[in-house]
Amino acid sequence: MAIDFSLSPELEAIRARVRTFVDDVIKPGETRIDGTGSEGAGKPLVGRERLDVLIEMRRAARAEGIWLPHMPEEWGGMGLGHVELAMVQAEAAKSYYGPWVFNCQAPDEGNMHTLLHWATDDQKERYLRPLCEGRTWSCFAMTEPEVAGSDPTLIQTSAYQDGDEWVINGHKWFISNAHRASFAILIARTEDDPDLPQAGNTAFLIDLPSDGWNEVRQIETMHGSTGHSEILLEDLRVHDSQMLGGRGQGHLLGQYRLGPARLAHCMRWIAQAETALDMMVSRSLDRYSHGSLLAEKQGIQWLIADSAMELYQSKLMVLHAAYKIDRGEDFKSEVSMAKHFVANSLNRIIDRSIQVHGALGYSTDTPLAHMFQQARWARFADGADEIHQMRIAQRTIAAYKDHGTTASATGSLPI
Ligand SMILES: Cc1cc2nc3c(=O)[nH]c(=O)nc-3n(C[C@H](O)[C@H](O)[C@H](O)COP(=O)(O)OP(=O)(O)OC[C@H]3O[C@@H](n4cnc5c(N)ncnc54)[C@H](O)[C@@H]3O)c2cc1C
Repeated sequence: MAIDFSLSPELEAIRARVRTFVDDVIKPGETRIDGTGSEGAGKPLVGRERLDVLIEMRRAARAEGIWLPHMPEEWGGMGLGHVELAMVQAEAAKSYYGPWVFNCQAPDEGNMHTLLHWATDDQKERYLRPLCEGRTWSCFAMTEPEVAGSDPTLIQTSAYQDGDEWVINGHKWFISNAHRASFAILIARTEDDPDLPQAGNTAFLIDLPSDGWNEVRQIETMHGSTGHSEILLEDLRVHDSQMLGGRGQGHLLGQYRLGPARLAHCMRWIAQAETALDMMVSRSLDRYSHGSLLAEKQGIQWLIADSAMELYQSKLMVLHAAYKIDRGEDFKSEVSMAKHFVANSLNRIIDRSIQVHGALGYSTDTPLAHMFQQARWARFADGADEIHQMRIAQRTIAAYKDHGTTASATGSLPI
């Protein structure tokens, strides 16, 4: 019997260690930063003070060996596969700062995968090594305000060659982490007339700050102004050796990056959804109305049951997609389905939890309001719902045409 959902004792021990670290170190640190503990006396920490607490937690995590769960051991990581990673990410993201403390947060985590796969040895030493050591931060610059981010063949930022340099002009936005990053992976159009529409873009490594890379603003969003920048690129010059991957391979590189990075988002969203469901149940066991506890009312039980079923499906989908990545099998459909399903479940589960909490859920006295603001972008960033649905439908129709059945489009499972 090959299907086995249990963890080995070694992995169970890692999971327990991560959970204990999150509970004993990160959650109290979070309380200090937010100013919600007795020490903080209601004053959130800002600037250097906030950063000091975060860095202190990072040092402790590294000393504890909970560091870079997604990277191989030779890069200082824990050398976990994607199934194992699911378990660590889902524990880490029980706290807002967890992934950052373990150095497995977006966009650095996706950039590390990209550099590991595409960078030359020199580029790895220069960019990947310090990122893995927690000495630098990075960003990924692809989306543009003028054209649909869902269709990278429309990218207008262009690069032309001038001797052994490239000159880049264009406009990017929603570039997470850009204001603190030491370097960017930038996608620009280099080919006027590519054989395939997808082969027009090339990736470049840009040291930051650089002349010609100009931050216009940090965009104010529904979860505040938390580090998504608008960037104007004006005659930005970069040496040919800064090309990442080959010429015209920007699309391939983006796709390679997005597969595991999307799934890592799902792993963290599962943690958030579970927190929301735990809170929903806890509140329903405390709140009394019209002769009984909320937990005893069928209307509330349906909210709980729907959320439990969706969370269970989310976990199975993520584990199966991770299993396919680990086995080197084609995982595109499974990751697409997981990304769509988990993002939507997350939004529904948090919304139901807010409903059960009533006014308290709408207040900022619980983390739910903040979680809901964050969850909204999950449905369109890293592939909008409709794009994933389009691709899933295309693959399902192709499976039927090729094999007379859609079975291979639903995970190729043995049932
Ligand atoms: C918090 C946050 C962080 C981000 N971080 C980064 C980052 O670090 N780097 C970066 O490069 N980008 C980043 N992005 C941008 C993100 O990747 C884009 O928002 C995403 O790719 C969608 O592109 P768009 O916003 O241009 O939407 P559009 O492509 O204009 O799409 C808008 C809507 O149109 C619909 N749509 C589009 N195409 C189709 C279609 N073919 N069929 C049916 N419906 C369709 C969908 O409903 C979609 O939601 C971030 C965004 C957010 C919100």
